[in-house]
Amino acid sequence: MASVEELREFLPRTDCRRCGLTCTEFAASLGRGELTPEDCPVLHEPDFAGYIEALHELLGPAPAAAPAMHIEVEKCNGCGICVTMCEYHLGNCDEARLGRGPRPADKVVFKVVNGAVVVLHQELCTRLVQAAEKCNKCADHCPTGAITLT
Ligand code: SF4
Ligand code: SF4
Ligand code: SF4
Repeated sequence: MASVEELREFLPRTDCRRCGLTCTEFAASLGRGELTPEDCPVLHEPDFAGYIEALHELLGPAPAAAPAMHIEVEKCNGCGICVTMCEYHLGNCDEARLGRGPRPADKVVFKVVNGAVVVLHQELCTRLVQAAEKCNKCADHCPTGAITLT
């Protein structure tokens, strides 16, 4: 990971504040992934040709987006297959291990409420654990294709 000083080397270093920051502050924001090189308007001027590309090279590839779950409620028929197949539920919820729905007190990724699945604790989904990031069971077993995992 490039340091603030290294990133600053490829900024105009005029502290013109057209970005609302000093160049050092801008470099620090670049390092934290809050801004991109394109956010410095001065770097788009011909005098700085190649600087944006050089900064991207220093910064390296953008981190992958965090895993996310999207459920199309209109497609869900409330069958509960995802709830009973869920990798997290099978490891942490006795009722799911027995093929039944979770008890009200169970902390679960999702459960069926009034005929449609509702996501309660997406942070429990084991896709967020690096070693299990390929888990796709709920989406694979959903008979209506209501679940999309990214
Ligand atoms: S707009 Fe660019 S040159 Fe001006 S302060 Fe911000 S980073 Fe520095
Ligand atoms: S991806 Fe796996 S752990 Fe996450 S909700 Fe679906 S089945 Fe459960
Ligand atoms: S498996 Fe699909 S259709 Fe069944 S409850 Fe889950 S999201 Fe809904």
